[in-house]
Amino acid sequence: MTDKDYPGRRKAGQRIDARRLDRVVADAQQSRIERHRGYREQSLRLHPWVCGRCAREFTLENLHELTVHHKDHDHDNNPPDGSNWENLCLYCHDNEHRRFADRVRGFDPLIEHEQAPAATHRPFADLRALLAGGNKRKSDP
Ligand SMILES: [Zn+2]
Ligand SMILES: [Zn+2]
Repeated sequence: MTDKDYPGRRKAGQRIDARRLDRVVADAQQSRIERHRGYREQSLRLHPWVCGRCAREFTLENLHELTVHHKDHDHDNNPPDGSNWENLCLYCHDNEHRRFADRVRGFDPLIEHEQAPAATHRPFADLRALLAGGNKRKSDP
């Protein structure tokens, strides 16, 4: 009489176990790392080993100091023609991201239109004023 199994029936004991979840997460991280490695290799193949900002040249010996920057800051935007990648040395890359962070915070909208890093930009000027103001509180009545 029971030659028909209910199709919706599941075997007992099929709970999501944490170890499996861990492996899924690890796999996702691994593929992210591989993707990262992939676009760096591609960019180094497509573009010259020269920093796009300071024009420093790289060889196999110091190639690890040459990084790949995403022009639109979207790491998931990796067109195979390399149009979103730019080879930057560690320092210029760091600088680029600091400028981007400033822009996002609305510090200086004009910075978008200039290429050279702004030497007059003093991110800590406000902080100093703030600290000075804090000290002033000591002035007694
Ligand atoms: Zn550079
Ligand atoms: Zn970047």
